Amino acid sequence: MAPPVTAAKELLARLVAFDTTSHKSNIPLIRFVEDYLGQHGVESVRVPTADGEKASLFATIGPAGAGGIALSGHTDVVPVTGQSWDTDPFTLTERDGMLYGRGACDMKGYLACVLAMVPELKTRKLATPIHIAFSYDEEVGCTGVRPMVAELGKTLPLPRVVFVGEPTTMAVVDAHKGPMRWSVNVTGRASHSALPHLGVNAVTYAGLLLGELTRIEEELKEREPDPRFDPPYTTLQVTQIDGGNASNIVPAACWFGWEIRRLPGFDGVDVDQRVRRFAQERCTAPMQRTAPESGVSIDLTNAVPPFQADATSGAVPLALKLAEQNATFAVCYATEASLFQDGGAPSVVCGPGEIAQAHTPNEFVAIAELEKCLAFLGRLAEWAEG
Ligand SMILES: [Zn+2]
Repeated sequence: MAPPVTAAKELLARLVAFDTTSHKSNIPLIRFVEDYLGQHGVESVRVPTADGEKASLFATIGPAGAGGIALSGHTDVVPVTGQSWDTDPFTLTERDGMLYGRGACDMKGYLACVLAMVPELKTRKLATPIHIAFSYDEEVGCTGVRPMVAELGKTLPLPRVVFVGEPTTMAVVDAHKGPMRWSVNVTGRASHSALPHLGVNAVTYAGLLLGELTRIEEELKEREPDPRFDPPYTTLQVTQIDGGNASNIVPAACWFGWEIRRLPGFDGVDVDQRVRRFAQERCTAPMQRTAPESGVSIDLTNAVPPFQADATSGAVPLALKLAEQNATFAVCYATEASLFQDGGAPSVVCGPGEIAQAHTPNEFVAIAELEKCLAFLGRLAEWAEG
């Protein structure tokens, strides 16, 4: 039997009340989870950052040793800055069957369901261990989970399957795209805009690069489509730009950020090399003829691998059985699933709530979604006894 949804709602209210926006410490929330697990006789291990300001948490219920099923989620949330909320984002508010709050959907609703299952799991004689793996800094490029993944099979047991509970309305997601992000600094030379021949215009050269990126974006659309995804191709977007200081100065600096979201099987190395080559030949070389100190620097700032579930692992059939479904889906947003899988733990994405509600003002999760998730976890508990 799954625990009553009341327990999950109460836990969700506690979790939402911790402001775990990615740039803040998640330690108060981690301490709360440690205490809660401790009250139920479950020990947990932190994987902290070097300064101790943040930590992942790993715990095992059932027999020790390798294998087992990990229930994974991130504790951080996106900022509420600039968003207009009808309620306090850090006070869980129930209205018409929905629970409103920052992270209610992405993804503290799942964490609450997992924690609500702990008393039930403790009463079972589990043959297969159930692990809890909570991370941080997912929303800033899936960076926080990586040190924990690095410990799997070393100081932490390597799970046989990881269920990543990102919001999918409890559908089984076996593939997602993988973002790759760059930061580009164009350095020119300032001059009076009446004497542009004495300067090097950083914005103009950035514009040449943007033109090349637009050509690449169009070419990516022409590659072999993968109809499971919408859109069915690798996308490219310039997402941020900043340059120039005054209307009468040739700008000495321009910065912009861009990304691609790769289909599974697309590593992006050719795109990276093409942009660097273009920058060298068409920007840096001519810029330096006027100003030797000028040029373009390109930094790859983040990459999360695309995800395609391992067809031989058994993770997908198990997820389908527990979700009582017979079809899998592919999504365009990234999750930690590909990092777990690349770390040796086959993964599937399946969690309560709709991704459309994530990151928005008035984010919510339907209580019915939490009930579906608890039923899934209840079936997992039964399966793990067998
Ligand atoms: Zn998320």
